Amino acid sequence: MAVHSKFRRFFYNRLATVGLFIVLVVLVVSAAAPILPLTDPNQTVLTNRLLPPGSEGHPLGADELGRDMLSRLIWGTRVSLAVGLSATAIAALVGSLIGIFAAFYGGWLDNTLMRGIDMLMAFPYMLLALAIVAVLGAGLFNALVAISVVNIPFFARNVRGATVGLVRLEYVDAARLSGKSDMEVLFGELLPNVLPVIFITISTTVGWMILETAGLSFLGLGAQPPTADLGSMLGEGRKSILVAPHVATLPGLVILVLVIGINLLGDGLRDVLDPYLRSGALVSPRPATEVDTDLRRRLRSGDAVEPGTEVSPDGPGGNDGGGNDGGTVPLSVRELRTWFWQRSGRTSSAVRATDGVSFQVPRGAALGIMGESGSGKSVTALSVLGLVPTPPGRIMDGSIRFNGEELIGAPIERLRHYRGNRIAYIFQNPMTSLNPLITVGEQIAESVRHHQGVSRAAARERAQELMDKVQIPNAAARVDSYPHELSGGMRQRVGIAVALANDPDVIIADEPTTALDVTIQAQILKLLDDLRRSEGVSLVFISHDFGVISELCDRVVVMYAGQVVESGTVDEIYRHPLHPYTRRLMACVPRLGDRARALTAIPGLPPALDDLPTGCRFADRCDVVTDACREAPVELRGHGAREARCILVEETSA
Ligand code: SF4
Repeated sequence: MAVHSKFRRFFYNRLATVGLFIVLVVLVVSAAAPILPLTDPNQTVLTNRLLPPGSEGHPLGADELGRDMLSRLIWGTRVSLAVGLSATAIAALVGSLIGIFAAFYGGWLDNTLMRGIDMLMAFPYMLLALAIVAVLGAGLFNALVAISVVNIPFFARNVRGATVGLVRLEYVDAARLSGKSDMEVLFGELLPNVLPVIFITISTTVGWMILETAGLSFLGLGAQPPTADLGSMLGEGRKSILVAPHVATLPGLVILVLVIGINLLGDGLRDVLDPYLRSGALVSPRPATEVDTDLRRRLRSGDAVEPGTEVSPDGPGGNDGGGNDGGTVPLSVRELRTWFWQRSGRTSSAVRATDGVSFQVPRGAALGIMGESGSGKSVTALSVLGLVPTPPGRIMDGSIRFNGEELIGAPIERLRHYRGNRIAYIFQNPMTSLNPLITVGEQIAESVRHHQGVSRAAARERAQELMDKVQIPNAAARVDSYPHELSGGMRQRVGIAVALANDPDVIIADEPTTALDVTIQAQILKLLDDLRRSEGVSLVFISHDFGVISELCDRVVVMYAGQVVESGTVDEIYRHPLHPYTRRLMACVPRLGDRARALTAIPGLPPALDDLPTGCRFADRCDVVTDACREAPVELRGHGAREARCILVEETSA
């Protein structure tokens, strides 16, 4: 299935298919050279000297010794291909072995091998190839050796780079623990993971190698007369370029078409083999999440979100002043739909990461967003600042208002003004969100400088002040520390200091305590709570843990499969959860001292977001499901000051 889908993806790339066609035609014709009705490529007939293309018995004419051009081109291509492909195979084998051994054993072996590779790379590769042939003597075999040697460093460097990132992973340790020898780990565990890198390097270098072989032959250092290869034919034809241009042009054209074909094929193979390219991870995201064209038009005409979808700070049915009252509600999200578009061949399907999410965060309040992984919590938060990467993300519908101003479709300059300034973001993992090469003080100071335009000295002073505020001991000394010199808890405090740098109105904290141990977690939660109360900041706190949310938040929104399934105050939801999903989530939370309480996991998995059921999205995991639940989409309805998306709750309320 996976192989089938790779084939399909390859053939949908038209240029790659053209490349494959060219390469196949060239390979088949050159392989069939001995059985084709061709004249001897080396047979000299001086009466046929420089015959033009279209002459009788010589469809592509003859060269200056009267040899048939068609026959020499086919045999010459065969020689060029054989040398180019053999050189690629040798360079790939030797270079990959050097790379994988150097990365695996490290130490002196790595140093010795890589310094040797660096020395080879220090020379321009064509010059090095010429030097090697000059030492070994002219000839096809020596040209093959030279081309192989100069290309070994590309494979060695690429493979070493890929292997270094793998050797410290746990699955390699697990293989060692299972008693596998070094060779078994190298060739059984690491090599299969590095193979795509080797294939990708082959696909991008084989074209060069054919070109390099032709170059050496062109200079008279490769194929020797009477043997023809494309480079030597080009070199010989050069002499008669003015009287019989076809003699030089035809081999030149074959080289051009062949190398273009190989490169197109290589690009197609790389796209199929490289999981990063496949996922779009290597595609640079746009500066802000793309907004659907239809939504843009509706936003301009003022009818993006239907009236009546407003949610008040105190629950449904209230009034927040028409959604424009930034005075009491700095952040208002309504009917947000952020989808990821994935292509499979010519069709594309939508992964509905958020599908109609609404909530509001009053000034100074803390809202918790709770749900399992993949429920759409982080996508909701990232959408606020237009940070969902496009491709593949796109905001399809909804409204996000900050202090009354619509952020969806806002000019990038406005978003940049708000990002890290009025709306701050604390990431889950401070190790990856802080730049490892810049001191923590400088990272806090640059946010201050960028948004407040103060001097370097003033920004540094402010950085130190913020580090004091987030209770980093000895801030004056730590301001010049790099992230790796701090513990996990200290790094997260730096992340909070960066968030506080410009006295924001809203802080979005995306699972900021997940990577921390429980005592540090408690300190960070207390710090966030104190700062919220003292600074009057509104807080959006994302977590899968109700215990953590209940420590910090006033209200909670529970998300499942991209939708809000319940919302209310933390106290109400703690005492009496309405939705079966919330009930089951709460049943998974351990309570200290309650040994008799059985923790029951929620069976099954959330539905695929690109293949959602018609009815209730929780139906397959719900312990009180009825047939009616599966018939039609279930709406989010108000129940007093709360909301729930469950027909059972509706019936009970009725
Ligand atoms: S609508 Fe039905 S399936 Fe969905 S949560 Fe309510 S009872 Fe369960």
